[in-house]
Amino acid sequence: MADKREKCHDQMKLWKESRGNQKSDVLTTGGGNPVADKLNILTVGPRGPLLVQDVVFTDEMAHFDRERIPERVVHAKGAGAFGYFEVTHDITRYSKAKVFEYIGKRTPIAVRFSTVAGEAGSADTVRDPRGFAVKFYTEDGNWDLTGNNTPIFFIRDAILFPSFIHSQKRNPQTHMKDPDMVWDFWALRPESLHQVSFLFSDRGIPDGHRHMNGYGSHTFKLINAKNEPVYCKFHYKTDQGIRNLTVEEAQRLSAEDPDYGIHDLYEAIANGNYPSWTFYIQVMTFEQAERFQFNPFDLTKIWPHKDYPLIPVGKMVLNRNPTNYFAEVEQIAFDPSNMPPGIEPSPDKMLQGRLFSYPDTHRHRLGTNYLQLPVNCPYKARVSNYQRDGPMCFNDNQGGAPNYYPNSFSAPEVQPSARESRFHVSADVARYNSSDDDNVSQVRDFYTKVLSEEERQRLCENIAGHLKEAQLFIQNRVVKNFSDVHPDYGSRIKALLDKYNAQGRSKKPVKTYIQHSANLTAKDKSNL
Ligand code: NDP
Repeated sequence: MADKREKCHDQMKLWKESRGNQKSDVLTTGGGNPVADKLNILTVGPRGPLLVQDVVFTDEMAHFDRERIPERVVHAKGAGAFGYFEVTHDITRYSKAKVFEYIGKRTPIAVRFSTVAGEAGSADTVRDPRGFAVKFYTEDGNWDLTGNNTPIFFIRDAILFPSFIHSQKRNPQTHMKDPDMVWDFWALRPESLHQVSFLFSDRGIPDGHRHMNGYGSHTFKLINAKNEPVYCKFHYKTDQGIRNLTVEEAQRLSAEDPDYGIHDLYEAIANGNYPSWTFYIQVMTFEQAERFQFNPFDLTKIWPHKDYPLIPVGKMVLNRNPTNYFAEVEQIAFDPSNMPPGIEPSPDKMLQGRLFSYPDTHRHRLGTNYLQLPVNCPYKARVSNYQRDGPMCFNDNQGGAPNYYPNSFSAPEVQPSARESRFHVSADVARYNSSDDDNVSQVRDFYTKVLSEEERQRLCENIAGHLKEAQLFIQNRVVKNFSDVHPDYGSRIKALLDKYNAQGRSKKPVKTYIQHSANLTAKDKSNL
C-alpha cells in the first residue's frame, strides 16, 4: 500500500510536494544558459554524427566524467545526520570551551557514522569497528571529535597505521580480503588483542548506527578559565539501548538491505524518531596520570570506570537528515586538530599522528580550500587569517585585507586568551618500542568479568570461524596470544580450530569477518 511506504523510499514524491505550487525552474547549462531540448543530441542528419558545438551535451558529459572524488581510504561507507548538543551538567571547572559554557546551551552538530575497511558501496552490516565522528560548530570555531564505537584501537603507535589498514583491506595481487594478512598483522602486534576481542564480540556488528555507543577514544586535555589542565576521555552512550545483529541476521541484511545503517538512520529521523546519546567525560589529573598503572595515553587501554567515573555533561540529538548526500556527507571532513580553546591534545601517539593525517587527506581528497565548503565551514565563527588563494576558492578570499603578518593595517590580531596550556616535557628523543606495554590485563578483565559465558562462547566461535582461513603458523601464533590473555580463551579457540582443520579448509574466499561463525553445527555448539 502506497501510504505504508517508508519515507526514504518516497523521497522524490516528498520533494515534489515540498515545492507546493512553485513552477519548475528553467533547465540550464552549468553556465546558466537556458536549455531548449534535453532529450535529443545535436547531429548532422537524423543518424549522426555528433557536433562538438552541442555544448548542452558536452557540458553535462564533461561534468559527469568528473563526478567522483577520491574515496576515503578508511571509513569510506558512511551515513550522516545533523542536530544539536545540549549541556545538561556544568563542567566549566574543567573546560572553558564555549560548547560547555552553560547548562541549556545548544551547539549545532554534524555526525557521520561509518564502517572502516569496506569501500563506499560495501554492506553496512559487516563485522568492523564503526566510525562515530561529531563536528560541533562552536563560536570559537569547529570542534571535531573524530571518534569510534569503541573506546580503544588496534595499535598504539601511529607509525603502524598504514600497514595495519593495508592488512585489513585487499591483497595487492588477488584484490581480495586476505585472512593471512589480517591475522598475521594482529598476531605480530599483540597490542591489538583488546580491540580484536571487542570486534569479535557481539558488539562487533551493531544493529544500525543508532544502537551503539561512541567514544572520543583518545586521551585529550581539558583546560579551564584559569588555564588549569586535566586529562579527559569522552563517551557518548546510546539512549536507544545497545542492540547488535546476530551473524546470521547480518549476513541476510548484507544481501537484502546492504545500506541498512543508512536506511535505519534516515527513516528514524524522517519519522521524527530522533536518536540521542548521553555525553560523559572521564577526568584524570596530572598527578593521577603519573600514578596510573598503565600509560594513560595508550589508545589500546581504557580508564576503569570505578577509578575514573563517568561525569555527565550533556546530550547529542540528531534531528535532520542531509538535504544532499554528496554535499553534506561525502564532503564532510572531520579533523581532530579542530580544537577550540579549552580542549587540547594529550601526548597520545595515535592522536598526534591523526592531527597530521586527517587534514592532510582532506587536502588531497577535497582540495586545499575544503574548509570553505558549507558543511565544513566554521559558520559560528568568522575565519580571519593570512591564508589566501588555492584551487576553488569560492568565498571573497578575505577581500582587500592585508595578507601578511605582522602588519600596520588593522588586519586580524592574535587572541592571547587562546594560548595553549603550558606543559613540561623532558626526555631523550628516540624511537621507543611500546609493543609489549601490558597487552593482556585489560583484555583478561574484559573476557572474565565483562562477558557472560554465552558471550565468551560466541566470541571464540567468531574468532575461530574467521581465523581458520589463515595459515597454520599464524593460527598457532594467535592462539598463543589469546592464551596469554587467559588459558581458557586460547584453548577454546584452539579446540574449534582443531576441529575445523581436521574437517579441511573452506574452499570459499573470506569476504568479511562475519561469515564463519554460522558454519558451526549444533553439535559443535553443544560441545562448548
Ligand atoms: P565496567 O564494568 O565499569 O565497564 C564494562 C564496560 O564494558 C561497560 O562500559 C560496557 O558498556 C562495556 N561492554 C560490555 N560489553 C562489551 C563488548 N562486547 N564490547 C565492548 N565493551 C563492552 O568495567 P571497567 O571500566 O573496569 O572496565 C573493564 C573492562 O571493560 C575493560 O578492560 C574493557 O575491556 C571493558 N570496557 C571498559 C570501558 C571503559 O571505558 N572503562 C568501556 C568499554 C569497555 P556499557 O556500559 O555501554 O554496557
